Amino acid sequence: MSVVNPLSARRSKEYNRIFKGAAVLTTFAALYIVTSSNGSTTVKAKSSIKGLYNSSGNDCFLNSVLQALASQSSLTQFLQLRASSSTLYAALLEFLKNLNSGSSKPTSANSFLNILEKITNKVILRSLQQDAHEFLQYLLEIIESQDSSLPSPSSPPSSVRILGFPAQLPFIGFILQTVQCSFCSAKTSTNFKNTILQLSFPYAHNASSVSLSQLFASNAFEQVDDFKCDACYPHTKKTTSCYRMVQWKRPPTLLQIQLERSCYTPLGLSRNNTAVHYEKSFVLQNRYRYHLRSVITHHGGANSGHYICYRKKDNCWWSANDTIISKCTIEKVLDQHRLAFMLFYEMESPSELD
Ligand SMILES: [Zn+2]
Repeated sequence: MSVVNPLSARRSKEYNRIFKGAAVLTTFAALYIVTSSNGSTTVKAKSSIKGLYNSSGNDCFLNSVLQALASQSSLTQFLQLRASSSTLYAALLEFLKNLNSGSSKPTSANSFLNILEKITNKVILRSLQQDAHEFLQYLLEIIESQDSSLPSPSSPPSSVRILGFPAQLPFIGFILQTVQCSFCSAKTSTNFKNTILQLSFPYAHNASSVSLSQLFASNAFEQVDDFKCDACYPHTKKTTSCYRMVQWKRPPTLLQIQLERSCYTPLGLSRNNTAVHYEKSFVLQNRYRYHLRSVITHHGGANSGHYICYRKKDNCWWSANDTIISKCTIEKVLDQHRLAFMLFYEMESPSELD
């Protein structure tokens, strides 16, 4: 069995870069280094979710992701429908149900991870500190690889209707990218599959604050120079600039957002501490209403830190810090402006879309 570092496994692959800045910043996201919590096993009574042991001392990156996924009902519904056809789906479903069962006693992710490693024949490296976003990406790729019902990335459904929900993977969406030449106005459109929406920051390092909707807008449009237009370059032999616009062709049921806080400065890798203001619900493209389900925060700098998950269960919000589970208010969850690293939203009643 080979050993895999999910970070380098991901970096070795080619990804479609949908949003500006993502290509550069993703390179450095892997350098996020996390440390374990202090090993406390304090658990408050009456919690309705279970804590997770940090058995390797570096497990907060995967504990926070698994806790975040446990609050996504579209994912558990999907797994329920497919559990009989996939050992991985059955194992993940059982594990997420266990996390949601509530108890004063923490549980361990080891049995699920063992099955994951057996299926992939790769060991997840936990002796080193890892990045939560990259672990999620790795896990989603394996979940997706087990599923054969997905439409091809090159031919997304022409309609925005989410057919067969929740039979389709809830975290898959399709983005339409349009590139327009500023000289001759020729347009080309391409569709991309998207699983995690990476949003880069529009302002200088450590700008004070930005709203999530401003981030959506700034990441959806950019001007690119030195563009070789297919229509006019063959005649003029001159590069032009172009406008690159992206919008959802079919947004995912489960919208997973990564805030690209890693940034490169003349002094090296740094962390962008811009406050991000996000709401408990919002409407995307004037049509799709989303509700906040989980938030993963990153505490620390670009080179060290700790992940905590805030997540909703039974109309209550919980903070899941490895083994330490505590009830909290929605105000506290929305107050993690400078620490928020990943946001998980679920679409309201996707099956009712026409
Ligand atoms: Zn042109």
